[in-house]
Amino acid sequence: MLNVPPQAFPAPSSQQRVAAGGRAKVPLKPGRSLMDWIRLTKSGKDFTGLKGRLIEVTEDELAKHNKKEDCWICIRGFVYNVTPYMEYHPGGEDELMKAAGADGTDLFDQVHRWVNYESMLKECLVGRMAVKPIAAPKGMLPEKKVLGASAKDLTPSYDWFQTDSLITIVIYTKQKDMNAELVIVDCQDKRLRGEIIVDDNSYLVELDLDHAVQEDLAVNIAEKVGKVEIILKKKDNIHWKMLGQPLESHSTFIKCMDRGLFYRKCKLVSKTEVTHDTKLFCLMLPKSTHLRVPIGHHVYLKQIIAGTEVVKPYTPVLPFLSLDFKEPSRHDGIHIYLMIKIYSCGLFTQALDHLHIGDYISVSNPEGSFKKSQVQTSEDLFLLAAGTGFTPMVKLLNFALTEVRCLRTVKLIFFNKTEDDILWRNQLEQLALADERFEVQFILSQPTKDWVGKQGKISSSLLSEFVKRSRKESKVLICICGPTPFTEQGVQYLKVLGYYQEEIHTFTA
Ligand code: FAD
Ligand code: NAD
Repeated sequence: MLNVPPQAFPAPSSQQRVAAGGRAKVPLKPGRSLMDWIRLTKSGKDFTGLKGRLIEVTEDELAKHNKKEDCWICIRGFVYNVTPYMEYHPGGEDELMKAAGADGTDLFDQVHRWVNYESMLKECLVGRMAVKPIAAPKGMLPEKKVLGASAKDLTPSYDWFQTDSLITIVIYTKQKDMNAELVIVDCQDKRLRGEIIVDDNSYLVELDLDHAVQEDLAVNIAEKVGKVEIILKKKDNIHWKMLGQPLESHSTFIKCMDRGLFYRKCKLVSKTEVTHDTKLFCLMLPKSTHLRVPIGHHVYLKQIIAGTEVVKPYTPVLPFLSLDFKEPSRHDGIHIYLMIKIYSCGLFTQALDHLHIGDYISVSNPEGSFKKSQVQTSEDLFLLAAGTGFTPMVKLLNFALTEVRCLRTVKLIFFNKTEDDILWRNQLEQLALADERFEVQFILSQPTKDWVGKQGKISSSLLSEFVKRSRKESKVLICICGPTPFTEQGVQYLKVLGYYQEEIHTFTA
């Protein structure tokens, strides 16, 4: 593997990547948007000069193509000529050049492994890297596929049994405190995929089933002993000789980061207005899917726009805010609610807005680093949200107020441009009346002259006014989400005010 310095690739703020990491967005020339790139790739132009042929590329050959006007980059063994894409890269040419003539896989993965470069750059594909024989000890598996020897004993295992009408797959996770959020099951046609999350690792049962099953499946979790049962209903009451044919990733136990994103098609069941530009989309999971999105985690939506797969992250919310709304008891596990701002020139959100009720959209497995325990061990919780950066705060707020007794204060400091932009203002005010621990403060950056509340953008003085420990030594958690500069400035100011990194959580992709 070639050694490339760990920098961002593709660059931050790209249409594909957006708010993570916090590097500057480079203004693109007119006519250089993602849509323009998609159009160009459809023009039939020869982007590689190879007239559609694919070649084997050696490391030496790759290294020669390291200039802007002749730039090849290798991602996961495939080499792309990215020169034609340079001007369209929202993070700028310099970011792309960091991997010029080299292997950019690690850089790419560090920033956004979910970007569908295969689709975006398919016309730029030069070929595959020539494989160098590696002298590995006999019997050794590729590094990515297996965790260290000590982890071996912790590898989950599975078994199965059947009755006349049911197939039960039992997964022994060897993990106490299993819960529904750690089990993701999909069964599409005869293909079964059951993923178990154990810390940062993922165990997969992936099979082409021996016979057809009915659409609905059930998942039972024995939390204390870590046993997970996936119960499938046979379509025909016949005896199965085997469970099925293992697929490529079957029975692997690898880092979650190394597991590709898996998508299932969800039906759009409703679309309701929240503000003048933001809507609440309700998506229904297929009956053959078991999936729960943990607090503060996001999913990726995928749409084909002008023939190209485009992927963007969104953070599920609840259908409304209320102290009576308790997850998981009243959360049905079938619907995913997304609060999405429709940008007038937004590639993805415009396409989303054009979906009709009953249309389908691909939704990925959840991702994210937030852990409930961060709240459970805090006494004061501060939520700093800007615009749709409010979305991760919704479930978090609900959880904090309904399930975390040790919290003394829960304060939402909500930054918006105008009064019309405030999401769920009424519900937030009701919540503040219903629970005396909760307080909400709206701060507007572009208020009308009638606004009597606080004004401005995030600043040290605003934060010192609103973020305060309730006791000298109290344990605080401060969560921040919004546009990248907002999040970055927030972290900086908080550190100057004496808060520790461990007390701050930023939501990014
Ligand atoms: P693009 O085509 O990328 O951009 C077109 C124009 O829209 C830009 O020029 C700009 O004017 C405006 N615009 C686009 N993106 C942004 C932005 N991020 N900030 C400010 N202006 C922008 N969005 C939600 O509405 N709800 C969510 O729950 C949500 N969750 C997210 C979770 C994560 C982890 C991250 C990283 C982002 C999240 N986003 C969310 C943002 C979302 O992923 C998209 O960036 C957004 O929907 C715009 O996509 P687009 O293709 O329509 O816009
Ligand atoms: P917006 O443009 O309406 O701005 C809302 C407020 O953010 C402004 O009033 C201002 O106070 C603040 N703000 C905006 N730009 C700023 C800047 N440069 N410096 C300091 N403060 C600034 O916001 P929006 O259009 O709703 O965008 C919301 C952002 O939140 C998007 O960038 C989106 O990607 C991000 N987001 C991230 C996640 C996540 O989990 N990481 C989830 C949802 C949204």
